[in-house]
Formats: sequence, structure tokens, C-alpha cells
Amino acid sequence: MIFDTHAHLNFLAFEKDWEDKIEDCRKEKIGIINVGTNFQTSKKAVEIAKKYQNGVYASVGLHPMNLETGLVKLKSNEKEGKNFETEFREEIYEKLIALNLDKVVAIGEVGLDYYWRPKTKKKKELFKQKQKEIFLKQLDLAKRFNLPVILHCRMAHGELLEILKSKFQAQELKGVIHGFVGNLAQLREYLKMNFFVGFNGIVFKKIEGVDFESLIRETPLEKILVETDCPYLSPPGYKERNDPLGVKLVIEKIAKIKNLSFEKVAQETTKNAKKLFTKIKEIS
Ligand SMILES: [Zn+2]
Repeated sequence: MIFDTHAHLNFLAFEKDWEDKIEDCRKEKIGIINVGTNFQTSKKAVEIAKKYQNGVYASVGLHPMNLETGLVKLKSNEKEGKNFETEFREEIYEKLIALNLDKVVAIGEVGLDYYWRPKTKKKKELFKQKQKEIFLKQLDLAKRFNLPVILHCRMAHGELLEILKSKFQAQELKGVIHGFVGNLAQLREYLKMNFFVGFNGIVFKKIEGVDFESLIRETPLEKILVETDCPYLSPPGYKERNDPLGVKLVIEKIAKIKNLSFEKVAQETTKNAKKLFTKIKEIS
């Protein structure tokens, strides 16, 4: 059993064949959490999960890059980009969760993303402020429903950690920092706070100042989650449009770096997924 803890079969890239992809996964005993990025993709993730008794789940939330602040021109390589939201409409997300308590296993992906930021200082501050506002609202939502959070963070670890630290003192949060790209010091901070660390196909890329081998070596196996972030981040040599089966290549890579068997990494990361997302059940 394997769990792809961060997939987007709920995106339009899989509009025509998400059912086939799930069938392929079920044959290979690969469970999936489809992650929402706005209300539409969150709703779709829930709709997909509802079609299966087990093995397929949903996470709901508003991704910082799907927040229309009016301060930067948002770029999106997904048609989902048409559904930018100007505010976090808590009531509709709350209802989606409340009506599907057995399928919604997390809040996310939520967090901070400062990649496409405004140039002037004043606008930049306002932009960060707006992202933080909706992030905090969603952390509260997670708390209220006692759900873990799936964190997205780009060029903002310092500020994200600051927010989490203030929450962590009250032992209020648990979650995963998904597709971690950062340095060892930041990694250690997340681990100290008991967060899980998600690795995906980005570990095959060369990113200046990031040493994925050291990051994987430093993260204890009991804190690792595996994911794909499909349709993105396809591992080298894999299909152009990534899918949940691509998670096997990520497991292979981790196994190689940690000098463990593929089976051991698959087994332990599945155990971790079940520990964090307490509602998920294996495919039967
Ligand atoms: Zn994602």
C-alpha cells in the first residue's frame, strides 16, 4: 500500500480520465488525497472522493495563489485560474466540510506564496497581509474541525514559521509542509514543531541553494510523506503529465538516499499518512 498524499486529479488536466487514473491506482493499491486550491477544485475533490468507499480522499482550501488581491497579475497554467477568489468565503468551505466529514481529511493547500509579488514596498506589504489573513482564517477552520493542514510555501518560510510557532505553543496544529523546498535550518524548524515533510518530483530538479539529498537524509523516515502534486512535477523519464503512479519514483529516490528498500519506505510513509490524516482507510 502506498499513499499519494498530494494529487490534483480534481484539476481540469484530468477532466476526461480521472476515473481511469483512479482505477489504475486501485489495481496497484495506491491511495490518493486530492487537494483543493479554491472552492471549485475543493468541491471537485470531494465529489471524486464520494464515489469511492475508501482509498480516495479530499482536502479543501484556498491556495494563496488563487487569492485575487488585485495587487499582482496572477499567472496560472491551469484553467482553474478562472476561479480566483477575492476573499475567503468561510461559510461555503465550512459547509463543504460539514456535509462530507468522512471524506475531507485536511485543510489545504494553504499557506504563503511570495513568488509573484508586487514591486513597490507598500503594495508588497498589503499583498503579504492579505495572504496572511486568509491563511489564519483557514488555520482556524482546521482547528475547529480538528483537521490537519496541508501547507504550501514558496519564498516565505520565515514568515510561515513565525505564524506556526505562535499557534504551536497552544498545541493546536498538526500537518505537513508539502513539496518542501528550503534549507536545513528551516526543515529542522518544521520537524521541531512535529510537522510531517512531503517530498515529490521536485527532488529530481536542480534548484539553486537547495540540496534535496541532505534534506531527505535529515528527515527521519517517520516524518516523511510521499506525494506527486500531479499533474505537475513529473519525475525525469516519467509521463509529461504526472499522475499518482509517479509517486513510486519518489519512493525509489528516498529509498536510495536512505539506503532502505522500496517496500520499507512505502510501508512507513503509508503508516505516516494514516497517522496524520486519521480518517483515511486503505483500499479494500
Ligand atoms: Zn498542489
